[in-house]
Amino acid sequence: MMNKYCQGPKCHTYMTTDRKRGMKGDKYFQTRTVNNYSYGDNHFCTVICQGDWWAKHGERAVDHFGRIHEPIRLAPENAWVKDYDYNRDGPTQHHFLNKLTNERIPLTSEQYRDNDYTLERARQTERIERITT
Ligand SMILES: [Zn+2]
Repeated sequence: MMNKYCQGPKCHTYMTTDRKRGMKGDKYFQTRTVNNYSYGDNHFCTVICQGDWWAKHGERAVDHFGRIHEPIRLAPENAWVKDYDYNRDGPTQHHFLNKLTNERIPLTSEQYRDNDYTLERARQTERIERITT
């Protein structure tokens, strides 16, 4: 397996014993491998090395991949989260909560825990309940 090296541009300048290599008279520090570390999707040995990369390349990276010039908006239809009200004297009340409109759709605790129980499913269930009650 080929060694994967830390992409930190200053990694070799952090003079730790695990970066030290070479024989007497020919010693040097070198960039770490990232086999045993995993920062920044396994490209860096530490958050410091990740920060060094950002300090050197961040500005150009943002320009390259697309700078945001206008704020991005999150509209009410995407502002739903699963939420609950803890009730000390009774059962916890679970619901979908819209963080913009404060609209709520009640959930059972099973539905709350079920990652496949989406807002769409909750709305369908709600529609069916409205029709049948
Ligand atoms: Zn590093």
